[in-house]
Amino acid sequence: MVIFDTHCHLDKFNKIEFINNQIAVTCGYSHEANQKAVEIGKIYKSVYCALGIAPHTVLDLNDLTIVDEWIEFIKHQKPIAIGEIGLDYHWGKTKEQIKNEKIVFEKMLCLAEELKLPVLIHSRKAEDEVIDRLINFELPVLLHCYSGNRDSAKKAVKHNMLISIPPIKSDLKKKVIKDVGLHNLVIETDAPYLGKNLFDIYKSISIISDALGVSEEKVEEKTYENAKNFFNI
Ligand SMILES: [Zn+2]
Repeated sequence: MVIFDTHCHLDKFNKIEFINNQIAVTCGYSHEANQKAVEIGKIYKSVYCALGIAPHTVLDLNDLTIVDEWIEFIKHQKPIAIGEIGLDYHWGKTKEQIKNEKIVFEKMLCLAEELKLPVLIHSRKAEDEVIDRLINFELPVLLHCYSGNRDSAKKAVKHNMLISIPPIKSDLKKKVIKDVGLHNLVIETDAPYLGKNLFDIYKSISIISDALGVSEEKVEEKTYENAKNFFNI
């Protein structure tokens, strides 16, 4: 059985230890991280790269024209998705910072539309706003490390978005998993952040398996299928 980790940051590892039969999507978030992700994707057959500029990267940029240069780089690569991108009101606090986040998020959505690629969304304290914005784009959407409430999750699923479960347990997450159901779930480690390494994908699998009362094999199989369809690979 193949295990599909939809979100990790392999550029942050000195030595990458893979588990057997794993596909991993390494995600960029800055121009530098995007460049590294591309290199890593070239080395490992089981690693795909997603490229994007995350909200926290642009908080204090005085001049956003540099972002267009970063976009040019992305256009010349072959990412399987645009990500991670989104809005983050935990880090973005001032009017200027929030304005920057919003402008860059729009640029990233237009880029995804132009390249006909799915998007990997990072949102923190901004779930409803992000979901409402995404509804207006006809893009396949994956909500990475979903941390919103049950109602936002239901709205996302109604619009065919995928919810990605990291290796961190919570009562709210359990409820969200039950509401959403296996059909709209995928798994991730977000390593080395939420998960320490790629082995932590087993924790994500067990969180879903516990919440839904289905076998871990079933979770592996269905999340693999969901991710494969989403990324179109
Ligand atoms: Zn991430």
